[in-house]
Amino acid sequence: MKKDIQEVLIKEEVLHQRVKELAAEITVTYQGKSPVCIGILKGSVPFFADLTRAIALPLYCDYMAVSSYGQSTKSSGTVKILKDLDVSLENKDVIVVEDIIDTGLTLQYLLDNLRSRCPASLAVCTLLNKPSRRLVDITPDYNGFNIADVFVVGYGLDYAEKYRNLPFVGVLREEIYSENSLK
Ligand code: 5GP
Repeated sequence: MKKDIQEVLIKEEVLHQRVKELAAEITVTYQGKSPVCIGILKGSVPFFADLTRAIALPLYCDYMAVSSYGQSTKSSGTVKILKDLDVSLENKDVIVVEDIIDTGLTLQYLLDNLRSRCPASLAVCTLLNKPSRRLVDITPDYNGFNIADVFVVGYGLDYAEKYRNLPFVGVLREEIYSENSLK
């Protein structure tokens, strides 16, 4: 699996340190509150697990699944909810936990949808952010790392459902996805 990685972009120790910093920031900001953390499946799973365990607040944890790129590396802009929440968001402080914001199209759709459920507040915490690729005006409230326009995998992020269990974030060799797109 590691031979498919061109370069380790963010090492395991660096990821864990930054996740702790984000959790500390959230703990201070939401002092006295019980926010609802929404993990967006499947990419945010390792980040969500590490982040929420480091937040020293009573949290509600819930999950949503939205349609992603499938086996492609580009966003289609069409989003479908595949799994919805179990909890109500009415008058709750909500934090959406994302793996990566690329064009922002997925998140824009999600935020519009969540806003219609009348939360008291709505924030976004993303592990990775690609500002140069943005097509809509969205800035995360909590951002782990800004990265360049490269396709990354690991620490939850996949290509065709592979590489999610890599403990670091790495750049996938281009020939892996260009080869597959010909099959
Ligand atoms: P957006 O709608 O912001 O363009 O795309 C968001 C989704 O695209 C992310 O949640 C993620 O599933 C996928 N995505 C965007 N960039 C990357 C990337 O570099 N690597 C991987 N594995 N997925 C990505």
